[in-house]
Amino acid sequence: MHATRFVGVSDHELFPNQSRIKHPSRRSRTKSDQAITVAVSQSFDIIIVGAGIVGAACAAECARAGLKVLVLDRGPVAGGTTAAGMGHIVVMDDSEAQFALTAYSRTLWHQLVRDLPADVEYDQCGTLWLAADEEEMAEVHRKQRHYTERGVRVEVLDETGVEAAEPNLRPGMAGGLRVPDDAVLYPPCAARFLLGQAKHYEKSALR
Ligand SMILES: Cc1cc2nc3c(=O)[nH]c(=O)nc-3n(C[C@H](O)[C@H](O)[C@H](O)COP(=O)(O)OP(=O)(O)OC[C@H]3O[C@@H](n4cnc5c(N)ncnc54)[C@H](O)[C@@H]3O)c2cc1C
Repeated sequence: MHATRFVGVSDHELFPNQSRIKHPSRRSRTKSDQAITVAVSQSFDIIIVGAGIVGAACAAECARAGLKVLVLDRGPVAGGTTAAGMGHIVVMDDSEAQFALTAYSRTLWHQLVRDLPADVEYDQCGTLWLAADEEEMAEVHRKQRHYTERGVRVEVLDETGVEAAEPNLRPGMAGGLRVPDDAVLYPPCAARFLLGQAKHYEKSALR
């Protein structure tokens, strides 16, 4: 059995061809647990607990590396924090580490764009960092230097520019910084897509 599997945690889902294991006593439950542990560890190279966006991404990457993957969750796919996320793929600059990781993450998403199904709702709409006054424009210019020096494309906008970029803004903003390669997507469907990718990689490896 090589394909990546996603299961909610129950004996029946782990072993659909067996009748549901009954747990009448502590002793037999222990034996059942041991049997499950042995069977699972013999069938998979890695067990990932959590079918959110992170677990799904790990599953896809592990499957791509040739591992047999089992993803376990106590609930549905992407039923945790992933369901609450805004799905903003954004390069952030609170620290050098954060900048490097978010820029790298965005690069990885860009590589996936062609394969993303419509329900992931990927939209490269960019990010608009807004400045209400001249003091905040100074921060816009600092950000511009910071991003540009690190190879991330940005564009400083004046009052007219931000009005054109986002017509629903209140009038009178001083300007802003547009990061055109940032994007948004719908995280639960992105997690489902990544789990599907894990299955796809394992099937490809079998051919
Ligand atoms: C309001 C909000 C907005 C956000 N906006 C953004 C954004 O715009 N951009 C961005 O990049 N990030 C955003 N985030 C952060 C992002 O959503 C999270 O970093 C991400 O969803 C975490 O994914 P995860 O897979 O680690 O966790 P989760 O999605 O929580 O997945 C963990 C899974 O593990 C399962 N689990 C936990 N314990 C067990 C167990 N013992 N046994 C079995 N299963 C278990 C849970 O059921 C769950 O499904 C936002 C977060 C919030 C709250």
